[in-house]
Amino acid sequence: MLFVVIGTGIAGAVLVAGELVSGGAGQAGEIGHIRMRPDGPACGCGRAGCLETLASARAVAAAYTARTGRAVRGAAEVVAALDTDADARAVWAEAVGALADGLLVTQAVLASRRVVLGGGLAAAGAALLEPLDAALRERATVSGARAEAGRAGGTAGVVVRRSPPGSRSSRPRAAADGGPRSAEGRRSAEGPR
Ligand SMILES: [Zn+2]
Repeated sequence: MLFVVIGTGIAGAVLVAGELVSGGAGQAGEIGHIRMRPDGPACGCGRAGCLETLASARAVAAAYTARTGRAVRGAAEVVAALDTDADARAVWAEAVGALADGLLVTQAVLASRRVVLGGGLAAAGAALLEPLDAALRERATVSGARAEAGRAGGTAGVVVRRSPPGSRSSRPRAAADGGPRSAEGRRSAEGPR
């Protein structure tokens, strides 16, 4: 399972059979610095267009301000304006599209049965889940990744679950998994500054 925490940055952890996979330098699952858009915003890591510069909560707020000139307190304010503000919808669509592309990169390598999204942005719930699900369906070429709502140890989250081959129409299933909590405690959603 891949657990992705989307807050001010994007962090992640890989769990196999309930065990955290650290990787050689403890960095396994840190997908925030996958370079998604080479011409994208500068990242704290020194490169540009990393996933967390496009799809983190901070990125959503910054993109909205850059587009409109209006400061917002955070991504939640952009999400709250989706019904009434075309700029908010455009910014959100860009972020969700980048997130879908990033998750599909990870799925090409891990083919995780589940990708659980946590952190502040996951609190957007259906506003994130529905377009993310649509973007995954539209963009997936190898796996039939799907997004679904779930609860992870009491923390509202979003689950992207890989459908078994040939069953792309399988019904989404709510998830209950305590695993993410331990990963969340270990990892910070803060990106490099
Ligand atoms: Zn970066």
